[in-house]
Amino acid sequence: MPIPEPRTAPEASRLIRCTEAAARMDPLDVWLYPTGQAMRLELESFKTDEYTGERTSRRYVVDLVKSTCTCPDFRKHGMFCKHLLYTEAVFKRAAALDALAKRAEEEEDGRLFMQNLHTERSLLAC
Ligand SMILES: [Zn+2]
Repeated sequence: MPIPEPRTAPEASRLIRCTEAAARMDPLDVWLYPTGQAMRLELESFKTDEYTGERTSRRYVVDLVKSTCTCPDFRKHGMFCKHLLYTEAVFKRAAALDALAKRAEEEEDGRLFMQNLHTERSLLAC
C-alpha cells in the first residue's frame, strides 16, 4: 500500500518535515532488523544525549506492505512518519543497487557499468 498523498496544507507540510527528518537520520544510528515477515522490519534508532553522553535507543516496527509504523508520531497522525519514509528510501536504494549489480553481471563493458552507477547514484542522492 503506497504512502497516502497529502490532501491538506498541514498534511503537506508534515510530509516535508518527515521527509527532511528521514534524510537527516544517520545510517550508523538506525538499524533495521527482519521480523520474519516480508517487508516488515524492526527499526532501532539510537540517540546520544548531548549533556550526559548516555546512549539510548527506541524500537518500532515498520510495515512496508501496509505503510504503517508503531511509533507515537504515526499513531497520532497516521499516513506517514520519518521511520516509514527512511525505511522505504533504504529499500528503494537497495533495490536500485541490486538492479545495478545484476546489470553489471550481464554487461561485459565495465565502462558502461560505471557510467550507469554514477548516474543512478546521483538520482538516488537524497
Ligand atoms: Zn514511525
